[in-house]
Amino acid sequence: MTTGFFWDERCFWHGGGNYAGMLPVGGLVQPMATGGLPENPETKRRLKNLIAVTGLEADLALMTAAPASREDLLRVHPASYLDDFKALSDGTGGELGRRTPFGPGGYEVATLSAGLALGGLRAVLSGPMHNAYALSRPPGHHALPDFPNGFCLLANIAIAIRAVQAEGLARRIAVLDWDVHHGNGTEAIFYDDPDVLTVSLHQDRNYPMDTGAFADRGHGAGAGFNLNIPLPPGTGHDGYLAAMDRLALPAIRAFAPDVIVVACGYDAAANDPLGRMLATADTFRQMTRRVMALAEEVCGGRLLLVHEGGYSETYVPFCGHAVLEELSGSAVTAPDPFAEVFAARQPDGRFAVFLEGWIKDMEDAL
Ligand code: ZN
Repeated sequence: MTTGFFWDERCFWHGGGNYAGMLPVGGLVQPMATGGLPENPETKRRLKNLIAVTGLEADLALMTAAPASREDLLRVHPASYLDDFKALSDGTGGELGRRTPFGPGGYEVATLSAGLALGGLRAVLSGPMHNAYALSRPPGHHALPDFPNGFCLLANIAIAIRAVQAEGLARRIAVLDWDVHHGNGTEAIFYDDPDVLTVSLHQDRNYPMDTGAFADRGHGAGAGFNLNIPLPPGTGHDGYLAAMDRLALPAIRAFAPDVIVVACGYDAAANDPLGRMLATADTFRQMTRRVMALAEEVCGGRLLLVHEGGYSETYVPFCGHAVLEELSGSAVTAPDPFAEVFAARQPDGRFAVFLEGWIKDMEDAL
């Protein structure tokens, strides 16, 4: 069965306030590798490069996709926001929200990033791909309809979901967000919607600091269709798998979606600068294995992973490689060079006792 890998070089060219030498970026002038923000091209580019070097990419169907259309965007974002974004992007770039700058042409790159997610979702739902991975950049899970934040300009996953619903390809969709930060944008967009289950595993009050509470379960017709699973700093491999097995996956199983979409951030990894968790490449491998098994059980294996955060330039590529090995069933491996040291740093038994109580409190409340 085929695993699609949706990517586009131009997604690596997104950046805010950046120059290439003395040249302002845009058009055919590529920005410098690091844009001054943690969300710079390196983590994603190095993942793409690693799968080329190991040969894993030969076991994937490398694809690109058309940018999301204005019609696609308008199902999630108001015209006023899109117009403001496009106008600034057509000029020198700028900032419309919180810590989410973009350069000239940033609008077009963001629509391409959303388009990769949409292309992946269409491919999985209409048949040619068994599952797929979208290397989207800029990320999307923090983007609110009219307010970009957390490096997210357009709500990539929400745009893809609304499009395939409009096209009649799927109705009930589950989003599992394992980025270390709360998927506040995805939550907000679907908070009243019983057709989209949103589940977010995240570090408690990391970002945003005022969203992501367990008590926030949805509103109106959407009540019960949002599940936040905040975890304490220091949660490692065993804690993540316990939260998956006991909270996240049972919720998705009960929902019985037509397809599962994972907001796949790698910033829960042990050396990420924007998280304080202790997940490893094997954690991401095991989480992928579990969500694939659940997809086989409930929705014919239909599964899309969309790249979100993850800011360790050295580790994201190995975490992503492990995920793609699982998705594709490829025998090509990239042994985790940090495995020994991160295994040694896993929390000890006293933390496991504490975490057991933390998770059980949520389990009992459901
Ligand atoms: Zn994140």
